[in-house]
Amino acid sequence: MTLTTAIRTEAERTYDLDRAHVFHSWSAQAQISPMTITAAAGSYVWDGDGNRLLDFSSQLVNVNIGHQHPKVVAAIQAQAATLCTIAPQHANAARSEAAHLIAERTPGDLNKIFFTNGGADANEHAVRMARLHTGRYKVLARYRSYHGGTDTAINLTGDPRRWPNDYGNSGVVHFFGPFLYRSHFNATTEAEECERALAHLESVIALEGPSTIAAIVLESVPGTAGIMVPPPGYLMGVRELCDRYGIVLIADEVMAGFGRTGKWFAVDHFDVTPDLLTFAKGVNSGYVPLGGVAISPTIAETFADRPYPGGLTYSGHPLATAAAAAAITVMSEEGIVDNAARVGAEVIGPGLRELATRHPSIGEIRGLGVFWAIELVKDQVTREPLAPYGASSPAMNAVVASCKAQGLLPFANFNRVHVVPPCTVTDEEARAGLAIIDAALDIADAGL
Ligand code: PLP
Repeated sequence: MTLTTAIRTEAERTYDLDRAHVFHSWSAQAQISPMTITAAAGSYVWDGDGNRLLDFSSQLVNVNIGHQHPKVVAAIQAQAATLCTIAPQHANAARSEAAHLIAERTPGDLNKIFFTNGGADANEHAVRMARLHTGRYKVLARYRSYHGGTDTAINLTGDPRRWPNDYGNSGVVHFFGPFLYRSHFNATTEAEECERALAHLESVIALEGPSTIAAIVLESVPGTAGIMVPPPGYLMGVRELCDRYGIVLIADEVMAGFGRTGKWFAVDHFDVTPDLLTFAKGVNSGYVPLGGVAISPTIAETFADRPYPGGLTYSGHPLATAAAAAAITVMSEEGIVDNAARVGAEVIGPGLRELATRHPSIGEIRGLGVFWAIELVKDQVTREPLAPYGASSPAMNAVVASCKAQGLLPFANFNRVHVVPPCTVTDEEARAGLAIIDAALDIADAGL
């Protein structure tokens, strides 16, 4: 180590080593300048200069219980002191307890839990289960969706991140879901959008051949693509189509699940029970990587006397499942899901609606719970989007920079700022965050 390196601050060293050796996701490596995070607590993180930022991103929309919850940290420490790792074929207390707590909260009769390391592999396994259960191969998935970065999951994904990984033989066929603001169906009301989106999906099923389709995969509320809450009746309509054609319904609740929408799962808003439900992120707020698939009895039965051909060394890892059991218990004891619903309904929703009346750059705001998107446009009439966040978008970049300078870490994607604080966010924190976004949007307005 050189003398110069030795006298650098810890944060500078972290940054320098990162730039020298860490290869980052989804990035042109020479064009990025990652923010150094040195500490976190509750709704806040601290950067390498000691600045405190209100975390309105929940990192990648996963820190549902806030940062460093002491009971969850203690549970991980206790588990580490007892049993750090055990092969998946053995039973262990942390995994059994987590599976029990999850099964108690998943909708309907989704009572068996297959654990994975995150969301993408949860979707991989859900698709594999559906294919083996039905004996069919094709999978229908939505445009404007994200399902993860592994092979099947990225091919399910309906955004440009799929393109470099799509060799055209994944068996995935994409369809349009409902999104009234940018309706593919020229609809003008939610009811029209819902009806036409379901008719479109039924046409895709008919033209692809129902007997070839194993599953329909969709995010109950698409997240990364823009937090598009489906109109009432849509998910139930998809459920009915799946029942009519013998297709497995897979609800991807990796981002929307575990309290984010103000209920345990987003499908709970629509009284729909999928056949398979995938989860990750909020299950233990990402304190230790964990995901999984909640499985219906009918699909579980397929593998009663026939081995399920799939597994992971770390399936149901004790540290991850101990964190999940503690996080879910904390969420219940502290009313964290109800808090997300209340802050969304009483503070964030009304606050964003008020911002939309004053900022010409806001095209639409939409969401529920602590899961909201502000869609920014160049023109409210034509709805032309602001150039996407990244190298080519001075306006979006300025909005993000202003938020950070004022002490808020935002989640920006394409032409949107997502308002996705932890489910534990207080009214005061939510108001403070919206005030910062309000000031930042003045910059976007000025550039129109
Ligand atoms: N599904 C959805 C809806 C997601 O939002 C994500 C990640 O953002 C994934 C799957 C992939 O999860 P992971 O990054 O844990 O693999």
